Amino acid sequence: MASLEGQTALVTGGSSGIGEAIAKAMAAAGAGVVVNYASSQEEARRVVEEITARGGRAISVQADVSREEQVLAMFQAAHEEFGALDILVSNAGVQKDAAFTEMTLDQWNLVLGINLTGAFLCAREAVKEFLRRGVVPERSRAAGKIIFTSSVHEVIPWAGHANYTVSKAGLSMLMKTLAQEVAPHRIRVNSIAPGAIKTDINRSEWQSREAAAEVLKFIPYERWGEPEDIGKVAAWLASDEADYITGATIFVDGGMLLYPGFRTRS
Ligand code: NAP
Repeated sequence: MASLEGQTALVTGGSSGIGEAIAKAMAAAGAGVVVNYASSQEEARRVVEEITARGGRAISVQADVSREEQVLAMFQAAHEEFGALDILVSNAGVQKDAAFTEMTLDQWNLVLGINLTGAFLCAREAVKEFLRRGVVPERSRAAGKIIFTSSVHEVIPWAGHANYTVSKAGLSMLMKTLAQEVAPHRIRVNSIAPGAIKTDINRSEWQSREAAAEVLKFIPYERWGEPEDIGKVAAWLASDEADYITGATIFVDGGMLLYPGFRTRS
């Protein structure tokens, strides 16, 4: 198992779904974890309790990642608790779906604000800290690691979800540009792009037998993903096992990008 012993990870949107699984996987690998949430205080507290019950170290910190002053306060709280930050997982994300002509400016701004601007604000603060401190060889070969939770929809268009797909496509270029910019400082920046993972964001789909089966048609591996499928990859990607990976998107999607419709096309 990849080791994150002695390191600290901040996971935005760590109170639920994919972020929760990432926070737990990081803690299981030895990292102290900051579990960020926006409004789900009880859920975040539960995640922290589950981590500490297994001997891990964690705190929860409230912050809306789309608000600059709240992001700054969150990084300050992380610093006060753990003294250093080694890993940022910028994972917080929302969907507000609408047909294009029905989409309000508020829906557009909300999704771009959390999914993309929130990622920018958090990554900026993390990079500042990584640059200030540099490499600490006893902890990691890198000065810092950033992982964005993107989506297969950074490349697959999705009608009725223009705000969401644009936020994830933007995240792809943010990740690559930042990776290029900070690589000489030994800061690694990557994305994980999940396919269909059972979480609150798509509960209505996987809880309905017909809707869940419909989604399976898009997954050659013929199963929905579980949050733990992403958590394990994130812990590995943050570790020195993946030290030569930067500027990459790792698709964890059961083959969703393999043009599944062509499997049965003659
Ligand atoms: P989820 O269970 O709904 O979790 C979303 C998380 O984001 C929650 O912890 C939520 O906390 C947090 N959050 C929302 N708005 C926030 C804000 N303004 N500031 C800080 N945190 C905020 O959904 P999920 O599926 O795990 O989604 C996590 C990420 O995976 C998202 O970026 C999503 O786009 C991506 N993703 C998911 C799938 C999938 O199939 N599930 C596929 C591809 C990509 P509160 O409850 O406190 O608001």
